[in-house]
Amino acid sequence: MKNEKTALKENQGVSKPGTTSKSAAEKIKKNRVKQNSVDEFVSRILDGDITFLSRAITLVESTNNKHQQKANEILERCLPFANKSIRIGITGVPGVGKSTFIEAFGKYLTSKKSKVAVLAVDPSSTINKGSILGDKTRMDQLVTDQNAFIRPSPSGKSLGGVAQKTRESIILCEAAGFNTIIIETVGVGQSETVVHSMVDFFLLLKLAGAGDELQGIKRGIIEMADAIVINKADGENKQNAQIAKVEFNRALHLYPLKESKWQPKVLTASAINNIGISEIDQMISDYIIQTKENTYFDFKRNQQNEFWLLSTIEQQLKNNFYNNSKIKDRLSIEVSNLKKGKTTPFNAAKRLLNL
Ligand code: GDP
Repeated sequence: MKNEKTALKENQGVSKPGTTSKSAAEKIKKNRVKQNSVDEFVSRILDGDITFLSRAITLVESTNNKHQQKANEILERCLPFANKSIRIGITGVPGVGKSTFIEAFGKYLTSKKSKVAVLAVDPSSTINKGSILGDKTRMDQLVTDQNAFIRPSPSGKSLGGVAQKTRESIILCEAAGFNTIIIETVGVGQSETVVHSMVDFFLLLKLAGAGDELQGIKRGIIEMADAIVINKADGENKQNAQIAKVEFNRALHLYPLKESKWQPKVLTASAINNIGISEIDQMISDYIIQTKENTYFDFKRNQQNEFWLLSTIEQQLKNNFYNNSKIKDRLSIEVSNLKKGKTTPFNAAKRLLNL
């Protein structure tokens, strides 16, 4: 495996600055994408070739129809080899320590011979062009670990579109032999809900406050969380973290038992000092054992597949509708009539849908 490490750096969207100009890199990428057959992609991905994994994800993320078609063929062929990982969602406000935690946790897992892929769903990536995981100073140790693969959030016009691409990338990563998939997201809009719909275990990172832990936290997130980890439990914060732990534990017990029959846990950690990391890994293993035994694990994955089938249909129908030239022309006329008070939104919608 000559250059897995080098290839890793070159192909994780985290290439060395100044080595190739952006447009030249794009051209090279495009040519490579053209040259390789679906067969080649599939066999290289199944061999764990990170360069091909990266290129396949680029196809998945492309808006070009031909690329998408190729991506779909690769995905279908990889599907029988997917599904063999544990998918973990991690959320928390900016600054809570997500990337520090993922780096510590990821390194811990790779030290145990696991292969870890880190993907992201960042709905803001289109607006501000930046994205979580896009910054190469983050996770600098994990980035050079040959058993880790880090991919920034795809950009897209809608959260659904961004999430769909990440979900497809999970399949490719699994086929390439990654057995732990971490999906990072920030608590913006509905992003936690979509990430929850693609993972087995959902972990919420929190900071200890001044005793008002439950304030400002969305009820829905608490309901989704399989664990709350209070990070930065170090230095002066240690005691506050313990208090927060007790408070969250008490609050979690007030919620009805989850369908998984798993009682969500509250743990403390200091990601920066690697404290609490092995306990979190153990807790996730316990969850997997319990939910595999009571069959919830497979039930949830099936449910998620159904959800993604339906949401992909919705997405496609919407795309077809808005990309239809007749609709495009007529839509502006209807909007203008609406503004002049000549029609109602419902009548206008009816006419457009009947075109
Ligand atoms: P993110 O925005 O959620 O990804 O947060 P980062 O991982 O970038 O961390 C934000 C800041 O918190 C950085 O300055 C980290 O060094 C710091 N930080 C992260 N984890 C810990 C921790 O466990 N303890 C302490 N004291 N600081 C931490």
